[in-house]
Amino acid sequence: MKPFQPDLVYFEPGALDYPLGKELYEKFSKTDIPVRITKSHNRITDLPGESDLEKYRIAKRTLVVGVRKTLKFEQSKPSADYALPLATGCMGHCHYCYLQTTLGNRPYVRVYVNLDEIYGAALKYIEEKKPQETVFEAACTSDPVGIEHLTGTLRKTIEFIGQNEFARLRFVTKYANVDSLLDAKHNGRTRFRFSVNANYVVKNFEPATSPLEDRINAAGKVAKAGYPMGFIIAPIMIFEGWEEQYQDLLDKLREKLPTVNDITFELITHRFTKTAKNIIEQRYPKTKLVMEEEVRKKKWGPYGRTKYVYQDAHMQAIKEHMKQLIEGYFPQAEISYFT
Ligand code: SF4
Repeated sequence: MKPFQPDLVYFEPGALDYPLGKELYEKFSKTDIPVRITKSHNRITDLPGESDLEKYRIAKRTLVVGVRKTLKFEQSKPSADYALPLATGCMGHCHYCYLQTTLGNRPYVRVYVNLDEIYGAALKYIEEKKPQETVFEAACTSDPVGIEHLTGTLRKTIEFIGQNEFARLRFVTKYANVDSLLDAKHNGRTRFRFSVNANYVVKNFEPATSPLEDRINAAGKVAKAGYPMGFIIAPIMIFEGWEEQYQDLLDKLREKLPTVNDITFELITHRFTKTAKNIIEQRYPKTKLVMEEEVRKKKWGPYGRTKYVYQDAHMQAIKEHMKQLIEGYFPQAEISYFT
């Protein structure tokens, strides 16, 4: 799969005051990709497209280069302290992605060029928590590896964190273009995680991301580069043959990573809200995602939102099966959480 190239690029005028903004402007101006100016990266009003669906598809292939003004970082509990804002939005088309609801009608891919200001804010958070470590998550609102070939921002961030003994970085990706990150000076302070799943889930619900085999090969390279590693298996689904397919996944991971010691697994079962279901059905009308409220258990989330999760018996079956597989294939691994 070829790395993502946008069909359209917008720049905020302020972005051109930063070296990365200038560099990107010069780079895209030399290509055939149309370049436009927008007053604000938060509000693009002239996106092409007739219908909402067409606009959505075009937005997913639109890059917006801007300046991150809010330097107050969102919390990112429980697995990290703060979300590190390097980008917002993703070109992937995962049907179940939570960005469908959180980004609303702004699904375009925003990247921020004021890196020194973002790092300055991060340093303040690190100072506040010293001598305890501050953990930053760089993939809360985007897939930073998927756009790394365009910006180079993730490598810089890995090296920035690598220099600071009180900081840790983590991110997760469904993209395999990791080569530019392999020799970054990470100093063991970045946990590089891949999002993987059963073949059925990847094939049916994750268009415009790297094929599973490529992700697993990329994980092998990242392991050789000495990064602490992790896998997020999400959303775990029940479908015909799910037990064998998850076994097959763990089998492939083991084959590629025979000697890795520092490795974590995060396990998240499939869940949805009514709002997400409505959006998914509009954007992916032919989706095979099963979202039947009647057969699920209601779980109350924050802000009064109800999530539909699997019934207890299914949850238990998934938990036991996945735990048994991970313990069998990776006895040294830590299961960070199951939900
Ligand atoms: Fe969402 Fe990740 Fe898929 Fe991008 S790759 S659409 S962030 S789930």
